[in-house]
Amino acid sequence: MPTMTGTPLTDRYGRAIEYLRLSVTDRCDLRCAYCIPEGFKGFEEPAHWLNFDEIERLLGVFARLGLKRVRLTGGEPLLRRDIAGLARRLAALPGIEDISLSTNATQLAHMAADLKAAGVTRLNVSLDSLNAETVARINGRAVLDDVLRGLAAADVAGYAPIKLNMVVMRDNAHEVDAMVGFCRERGYVLRLIELMPMGDTARRMGYVDLQPIKQRLREHHGLIDTVLPGGGPARYLGSADGRFTVGFITPLSQHFCETCNRVRLTVDGQLHLCLGQDERMDFRTLLRAGASDDELASAIRRAIDLKPERHEFREHPEKLVRFMSMTGG
Ligand code: SAM
Repeated sequence: MPTMTGTPLTDRYGRAIEYLRLSVTDRCDLRCAYCIPEGFKGFEEPAHWLNFDEIERLLGVFARLGLKRVRLTGGEPLLRRDIAGLARRLAALPGIEDISLSTNATQLAHMAADLKAAGVTRLNVSLDSLNAETVARINGRAVLDDVLRGLAAADVAGYAPIKLNMVVMRDNAHEVDAMVGFCRERGYVLRLIELMPMGDTARRMGYVDLQPIKQRLREHHGLIDTVLPGGGPARYLGSADGRFTVGFITPLSQHFCETCNRVRLTVDGQLHLCLGQDERMDFRTLLRAGASDDELASAIRRAIDLKPERHEFREHPEKLVRFMSMTGG
């Protein structure tokens, strides 16, 4: 069975899969009110974490099948020891063109330069508010100053672009304009994200439809439709001079499943085919049972065949018991 070459990875709906989000830990130093519940104890045991050799091997096979881009995420990826070392190994894999990172930035101040040197080119920083009290309330810890120091270090390290991700919910919707001003001044791409009903924590938080906010920002700031290369599922508005861009990630009000090009690998080696559905394949067991590269490749193809057409966050908001950091955001 010639599994290592041939057509790129394409699912049953004709979507080419070239992007993998790699959760390097399910732990986090924050307790965002919509994500890991306070007091949660059900983290994966370290014995189940894929080690760097296992990750490198599996992603190497993936890359030979057409994977091009990897995003390091979690949990909080900067909590995994020697994350820069892993980034360096993945950046060196033939076929991998891009390594990016999503972080809450609490530890970024002392890691930004090393990660950049290791080959991480693009950075997404999560920040739901510029108000210290709101951050403490929504994100569960008083970390605004640490995050701002992390962003300053990322500026110095020269990441381009830096994207700032803000989940918009009832508690912070009135702060969108302040965040627009901050990102405009600092040269960050802002991305506003709709709250997804993942787990009880998120379902309690008060979903806000981004479409009216998009319309208001368009009119108020004189923004026009813009396309950002590699912009993923976000739909962007930008200033006429091209110096400010804001993206809208709207899985509920306007889903983008028909262009989904991604899969997610959890810290314990489960490949999830959709953020909002349960289809998955267990690669930890395969790797530890001594599967050959060809066997891994055909398992990857079988997994891609399981990718569902779309999530059902709107139709069945109660469906998903996994909160975001379990799958890898
Ligand atoms: N710790 C890293 C970070 O903060 O970016 C990476 C993992 S975190 C789970 C990834 C992103 O998912 C964050 O921007 C977080 O705000 C977002 N997130 C978590 N739960 C969410 C939900 N239910 N709906 C929308 N976004 C969510």
